[in-house]
Amino acid sequence: MRCPFCGNVDTQVKDSRPAEDHVAIRRRRFCPACGGRFTTYERVQLRDLVVIKSSGKREDFDRDKLERSIRIAMQKRPIDPERIDQMISGIVRRLESMGETDIPSKTIGEIVMETLARIDTVAYVRFASVYKNFQAADDFDKFVSELRPAGAAEE
Ligand SMILES: [Zn+2]
Repeated sequence: MRCPFCGNVDTQVKDSRPAEDHVAIRRRRFCPACGGRFTTYERVQLRDLVVIKSSGKREDFDRDKLERSIRIAMQKRPIDPERIDQMISGIVRRLESMGETDIPSKTIGEIVMETLARIDTVAYVRFASVYKNFQAADDFDKFVSELRPAGAAEE
């Protein structure tokens, strides 16, 4: 696994343990070249999912993108990070068990909103208000920057 700080490919695993109720393995890694420390997660991937955007463009499903948008919506909310991980895994598991490998981006957005609505109303409103504006725009990076709550830049 390449070091995200210096690019060295020869990093070491310091510790591995189950996470998210044994759905994932969490590995603490260390880079001997720069001393950097980072964490990776190993998870089962049942299917290779493809996202169909509203423009008709196809794109490989990217769990990290999904996770980024959810974490931003959840920012400063009193929710245990482990719970957020479980929620994201639950969403991915649902997508993977839909029986289709091609999933419209709209469906993903709806599942995320439905899940957030059950867990945290504020995060749901943040996500939903931005999501609705960007359904047509279909630009995820813009979506994420819009989702960033006011005040986040001060940190
Ligand atoms: Zn490094």
